[in-house]
Amino acid sequence: MMTIELDKLTRHYPRCLAPAVRELSLTVAAGELLALLGPSGGGKSTVLKLIAGVEQPDHGDIRIAGRSVLGVPAHRRGAVLMFQKAYLFPFLNVGDNIGFGLKVQGARRASIRAEVARMLDLVELPGIERRWPSQLSGGEQQRVALARALITGPKLLMLDEPLSSLDTAVRQTLQEAIRRIQRELGITTLLVTHDLGEAIALSDRTALLLDGRLAACDRPERLFL
Ligand code: ADP
Repeated sequence: MMTIELDKLTRHYPRCLAPAVRELSLTVAAGELLALLGPSGGGKSTVLKLIAGVEQPDHGDIRIAGRSVLGVPAHRRGAVLMFQKAYLFPFLNVGDNIGFGLKVQGARRASIRAEVARMLDLVELPGIERRWPSQLSGGEQQRVALARALITGPKLLMLDEPLSSLDTAVRQTLQEAIRRIQRELGITTLLVTHDLGEAIALSDRTALLLDGRLAACDRPERLFL
């Protein structure tokens, strides 16, 4: 069960007046998609970085599947991050970009090829292995980035404003794709967004972060009067 528990998590960056995240306690259920919603500077990205292990908390604990991961290095936490920018390798074709994680793990070529094809089907871009990242639209690049993130079977998917550089129509179809894929895989997911509509469209529950504090956390339709 890939539950994430944040237990009184605090992160105060050096030379900053106030903590970026303060005494944050929050549980993300296994298979849930939880949105972290709030204005810029509210601490959303810091929460993802703490869970991913690229930042360390000053106080508090992070448990994944019931176990504290504070001593576990980032690459062994089973979490993948996806950002506003796709960060594809321009010198590798789409197939090699997606298969990169499996290649690093030493998987065989035939199984990498099969998994890449399966991932491209999942993100609804079948058969584009030989295209180059520069030939893809922004939305397609994000789909490829999602396929690359998911190919190693991560326990947690963390999305940091993955759609905010896309235009409205593309964003909407990609929102639907993310929701479908997330449900299909049943992967525990945290989505950072400052877009209320996106939180409502995508999340099972939305946590509102203001000044590093949890202001509310509920099903999106219950956050409002
Ligand atoms: P959000 O994702 O909601 O925009 P962040 O987590 O990026 O919020 O930032 C929360 C606060 O922490 C902001 O005041 C930001 O300036 C500060 N901050 C973020 N990262 C760092 C860092 N590496 N060093 C110092 N301060 C940081």
